Amino acid sequence: MHETALAQGVADILAEEARKAGARAVRKVRLTLGALSHVDADALAFSLDVATRGGPAEGAELLIDRPSGEAFCMGCGDTVPILRRGDPCPVCGGSQLLVTGGDQLQVTELEVI
Ligand SMILES: [Zn+2]
Repeated sequence: MHETALAQGVADILAEEARKAGARAVRKVRLTLGALSHVDADALAFSLDVATRGGPAEGAELLIDRPSGEAFCMGCGDTVPILRRGDPCPVCGGSQLLVTGGDQLQVTELEVI
């Protein structure tokens, strides 16, 4: 389960940011998790809960945004939204798609006290 390793990475970022800000605790965390990232949001939330225990981000409110993926369709000659890798183009039904976005995991917002 690679969510555990990812969660540890996020927990490290949170602890580091809290330290830099001279904060006592992290109160709120917002993550962006692209729909094509192969990461299960529930598993990540659970792993993060475990990974932040005993640190400044313990008990922080967690928000996870799940933007849909983006791909360039050769048929349409345009960028289209897709939910899963391997999905056909939602506009023309074509299968010649090049994934261009939506596989990121980022900490986008952090509220410390
Ligand atoms: Zn298309």
